[in-house]
Amino acid sequence: MKPETTAIHALQLTQSATGDVTMPISLSTTFLRGEDGGYPGGHMYSRVSNPNRSALENVITALEFGEDSCAFSSGNTAGMAVFQALEPGSHIIAPDDMYWGFKKQLQSIFANTLTFDFIDLTDLSAIAKHIKPNTALIWAETPSNPLLKITDIEALAAICKKHQLIFACDSTFASPSLQNPIKLGADIVMHSTTKYIGGHSDVLGGCLTTARKDEFWEKIKNIQQIGGAVPSPFDCFLLLRSLKTLAYRMKGHCENAEKLARHLAQHPKIAGVYYPGLTSHPQHEIVKKQMSGFGGMLSILVNGDATAARTVVNQVKIFAQATSLGGVESLIEHRASVEGPDTKTPQNLIRISVGLEHIDDLIADLDQALAFV
Ligand SMILES: *Cc1c(COP(=O)(O)O)cnc(C)c1O
Repeated sequence: MKPETTAIHALQLTQSATGDVTMPISLSTTFLRGEDGGYPGGHMYSRVSNPNRSALENVITALEFGEDSCAFSSGNTAGMAVFQALEPGSHIIAPDDMYWGFKKQLQSIFANTLTFDFIDLTDLSAIAKHIKPNTALIWAETPSNPLLKITDIEALAAICKKHQLIFACDSTFASPSLQNPIKLGADIVMHSTTKYIGGHSDVLGGCLTTARKDEFWEKIKNIQQIGGAVPSPFDCFLLLRSLKTLAYRMKGHCENAEKLARHLAQHPKIAGVYYPGLTSHPQHEIVKKQMSGFGGMLSILVNGDATAARTVVNQVKIFAQATSLGGVESLIEHRASVEGPDTKTPQNLIRISVGLEHIDDLIADLDQALAFV
């Protein structure tokens, strides 16, 4: 089956006595045991597994061409489970522009148990000199936030294989619709399901998918089930509902973002556009190789300073000034002021999550806001 079909039909609904064509929400926290003490319904206790979560995990596994998935209550807890599963004393190589929440986790929660180097993963020739005897994991994030940098997944997978390192990839900006890192050699794919998979800015969640059920995966599953940072049945229901339209939403996000990027690239008030779909993007050839679309995220540099950028985000009327991404509504954000004083993000940078409104309205709105600069 093609992904569009998988998303809608991966769930084989055989359990329902009433013939539901969509999956009901199963709120029970505990499940009946049989006479032999077993669990004839396949579930024991809702933290360990429940029908809605298992269904969500199965659909994401199918869409990511993996072997198994673990859903979590946020993207942050999904990523954290990977770090928690490493042996204490392990060394991690991560991108210099890693999602700031993960960077913060490593620098605070794992400061005494793990060591890490943040490097530019667009330059894979520099990686070898950072690999140490205790290096256990390379974490990539592609496309990256907020500069939309692209890491060559296949090339990095080959390096990880050679050095026997676990390769985990945060694929949130791409979604399972545009990029499947396991197919390109990654061991683990991570999504903040809060973003494109949820798609409507109304559910928080995260997910990990593995290429194989090995010992490391057993540790992650244990952290999910014993740690207990799991999504509720209703969260899982919402995510399953959203997954059915993911492929079509992504087509719309890509189409709108590409048109907006092209418009802004020749706008006199704009000093730069970061969008993987522009031929001017430094990794444009790599992105064409590993993604089936260029995504719905772009960043722009406004002519001027932080004040100019803040003027634009305050003057737009359709775009909502808010953090996050991947929803049907377009969001706009002055990134440096979100990331705080130690950020390396340019002060005149605005990040845009291009939604599914009509592109003419989005272009007109940004044009009128840019007129204030
Ligand atoms: C949002 C995000 C996360 C964290 O996910 P939450 O659901 O907010 O916890 C991780 N990585 C990327 C790239 C993200 O955009």
